[in-house]
Formats: sequence, C-alpha cells, structure tokens
Amino acid sequence: MVTEGSVAEFNRNGRVVVVGASLAGLRAAEALRDEGFAGTLIMIGDERLQPYDRPPLSKQVLLGRTSADRTLLPRRRAINAEWRLGVPAAGLDLSRHRVRLADGREVGFDRLLIATGARARPWPREAEAELDGVFVLRSVGDAAKLERRLAAKPHRVLVVGAGFTGCEVASACRARGIEVTVAERGPAPLVGALGGVVGAVAAELQRKNGVDLRCNITVTELEGDLGGRLKRAHLSDGTVLDVDVAVIALGALRNTEWLTGSGLAAGPRGIACDAGCRAFDVHGIVTDDVFVAGDVARAPHPLFGYQFLSLEHWGNAVSQAETAAHNMVRSGLDRRPHLWVPAFWSAQFGVNIKSVGVPPMGEELLVTQGALAEHRFAAVYGYQGRVIAAVTFDHGRWIDFYSRQIESAAPFPPEFVGVDRRADGMRPVPADFPDPALPTHGPTVTVSGYAPNERRLTFTPART
Ligand SMILES: Cc1cc2nc3c(=O)[nH]c(=O)nc-3n(C[C@H](O)[C@H](O)[C@H](O)COP(=O)(O)OP(=O)(O)OC[C@H]3O[C@@H](n4cnc5c(N)ncnc54)[C@H](O)[C@@H]3O)c2cc1C
Repeated sequence: MVTEGSVAEFNRNGRVVVVGASLAGLRAAEALRDEGFAGTLIMIGDERLQPYDRPPLSKQVLLGRTSADRTLLPRRRAINAEWRLGVPAAGLDLSRHRVRLADGREVGFDRLLIATGARARPWPREAEAELDGVFVLRSVGDAAKLERRLAAKPHRVLVVGAGFTGCEVASACRARGIEVTVAERGPAPLVGALGGVVGAVAAELQRKNGVDLRCNITVTELEGDLGGRLKRAHLSDGTVLDVDVAVIALGALRNTEWLTGSGLAAGPRGIACDAGCRAFDVHGIVTDDVFVAGDVARAPHPLFGYQFLSLEHWGNAVSQAETAAHNMVRSGLDRRPHLWVPAFWSAQFGVNIKSVGVPPMGEELLVTQGALAEHRFAAVYGYQGRVIAAVTFDHGRWIDFYSRQIESAAPFPPEFVGVDRRADGMRPVPADFPDPALPTHGPTVTVSGYAPNERRLTFTPART
C-alpha cells in the first residue's frame, strides 16, 4: 500500500523511469521536479534526438519557414535526468519492476511513466512503401526528407488521406506552388474528425486553393520505375496519375506492441488508465506504480459518459503528463484527476481551425457565429440535447467560451444568440459523420469503450 511515509521516501530516493522521450515524457519529467521529486530520473527514448515538437513539422517546416532540426521543445526547467536515447524499450516485467531495452539491458524502476505516443500508419504494401518518393510524416527525419523533396519542386504530389495531417501537407504544397492531388476514401476532407457539413467547407477550401481533391476514392497501387522511384498511382475509379511524391497520411498507430505480454491493458487504441493516469492491468485492476500520458493513453472522461477517450492532441499530452507527474509523487486524496476537455488546432490554406470536445459524438450541428459559406464560423455539435463539441474556422478566440459550454453540459440547441448569426446558422442540421462501421483515419479523438481491456476500433453512437 502507498502510504504518506513511503511516498516521502520515494520522493527523496526513488527511481522514476520515463519511456518515450517526447512531449508528454519531457513535460512529465519537468513537472516531477517542480513537484519536488529529488530521486533518480531516467528518460528512455527510441529517437536519438532530444524531445522536439511535432505540430510545426506539417506546417512551418513543410512551408520551408523553419528547418526540421529547429523544432526542439523549449525547456521549462532543468530536469537533471539520465538520458538513454536511441534504443527502444522492448518489454516490461511488472513483477520485477524492470523495463527491458532492445539491446538486452534492463532498467529498474520504482515508478514508471509510459509516454510512447503513436507512429504514422504505414502504406500497407511494403514494397510500394519503400519506393523512393513515398513518405509518412511523424518525426523530424520524416519532415526533413519530405521538405527536401518539396524544395526540389516535384511534378505532382499525391496525398493519401485527408485527415488533419494530409490537409496540412496539401496546404503546404499549394503554398509552395506545387501541384497536389488529395485522395480520400470518405466523402470529404476531415470528415472523420469534424463530420460531413464541416468537411464540405474543408473541401471548398482545398478546391479554392487549387488542390485536385478526389473523394470516395482509394489508392489501389503505387507504381515505381525500374530504379525504384515512384512514378504513378492507381486509383479505385481506374484513374492513373503521374506522381513523383506520395505522402501517406492514414492516421496513427499507438506504440503499445512493446508491452505485449506485460499484463497491462494495452491495445491498438492505447493503454487504458484511470482518471489519475494509473495504468490498468488486463484484469481491469489499476496499478499504482505505472502511469500513462499522451497519445498512448486511453482514459475515461466524466463529460463523455466515462467512456475511454484516445486522443492525439498536443494540449492533452502536456496536461496529462502534468497530472501523471503530480499523482506519481502523491498518495490518496492528494491525487487529482485528469479532466482536460479535448482541444485541437490546425492551420491550413490560411485558415486557423480549432476544435473542442468530441465532435464525432455529435448528432447535429448548429452554426452559431459567422457563416459556412465564408469559411469563417463557429459551430457547435449536439448530442442528446447537450453541447458536446465545437469547431471554429478563423473564429478561435471564442473557443474557451465553447469549452465552458461543453464542461457545463449546456443545452443543445444553445440558448445564447451568436452576435453575428447568419441565415445558414439558424437551425441544427445532421452533423453527418460517416458510418462508424467504416474505418476512418480522421478523428484525433476517439471514444474507445467502457472497459479497460475493450478494444473497440470505432465510435459507436449510443442507442436512443
Ligand atoms: C505532423 C504532426 C502535426 C501535428 N499537429 C498538431 C496540431 O496542429 N495540433 C495538435 O493538437 N496536435 C498536433 N499533433 C499531435 C501532437 O504532436 C501529439 O499529440 C503529441 O506529439 C503527443 O505527444 P506524446 O509525447 O504523447 O507522443 P509522441 O510525440 O508520439 O512521442 C512518443 C515518443 O516515444 C517514442 N517511443 C515509441 N515507442 C518507444 C519505445 N518502445 N521505447 C522508447 N521510446 C519509444 C517515440 O519515438 C516518440 O519519441 C501533430 C502531430 C504530428 C505528427
């Protein structure tokens, strides 16, 4: 049992291991020191670089405004840690409190924070994925290679998948005057994240900016020349495109495979943890010395019916890391829950997009400010008579207001009157999310079931 005395001893002489040395890992380490943890801190990361920031990789870096190696995360304070970079963790022995590294070494811990995040979903056919000209975008190395290729002015770029990353890549291509085709399996860009109504606005934005957008289409083959360079893409409607660059933007996979057999409730949607960031084991019993934060975590949220949420949000990684660190150095009632309202931003085609809450839970959508046709608006999503999410296009200064609406379960349709409401914002319309049975790459927040070991892949709306 964790007692106050044992926590005090741990805080003086304990040993914390953080696996995953990126945003969540670094912020947790800083918070641990802020909270007074004076023991040994070991940071294990499979990348060789010190922690860096990913959002600029698909924005400023691809636009050529900053180089990929200038994205290191700013440090909030010194953390006095031992860094073990360049070697992945390959296993976890819970009973012996040891992390096994891929090179065979073992690292013991008193408390462990898992922050191994996610990686880009690769193109499924390996030989095609290895063609020169086929890219994914997750790391500094990915961004540097892709930026070099864009700077060399390719003839045409194909973006496979129109989620946030795909849209941002397409936007960067157009800003650099490069011809780009976007192929999307769903009916519109961002449809999995924001639904069909807002997706239609995203489609207009793309076309207005010269993107060759093809929806309801899949890429069936990437074809190379004899030298192994990408030269064509085959689409499901029989079209063949001459392309020399393809960016695979098919969403992310959680880095949980290294925990197979560890006994933790880890799966494709992440590692289940309680509201205090403590990992669950496969029996649904909460551990007290293994914590989880960031993209790899799946945590229940009271605002969303205590269902587990899997998030790919920068702000969540920071906030959850701080909560995990706080709870690692405390016991009992001094611990606090992670109650962050999901929030995400994107920049594409000159438009600043922000969302809060869980848009894919939305049944209906109401434009509350601005107008869809102007590509400048705020809209709220309703679920069972309450506000569950909101999205803004170039109306970001209102996002905190909508966040409070979600937190207070404000009624939907909303009772307030938007200051500049237009004709197309007067009545709710179906939010028009694709059939949840179909795989979508798009949501950056996924409702992933009630049980810690449940591995639901898609959001299933509640039956009414
Ligand atoms: C191109 C891009 C653009 C983005 N833009 C936005 C945006 O505009 N807005 C927004 O809110 N969010 C955005 N995000 C998402 C945001 O960057 C993530 O939510 C955030 O990086 C999550 O941080 P994390 O530390 O949890 O995970 P990660 O950043 O994924 O870091 C996990 C780290 O753990 C390492 N690791 C994995 N497995 C192991 C192992 N076995 N052993 C050791 N180390 C391991 C990984 O290599 C990585 O270094 C973007 C992401 C990308 C890729």
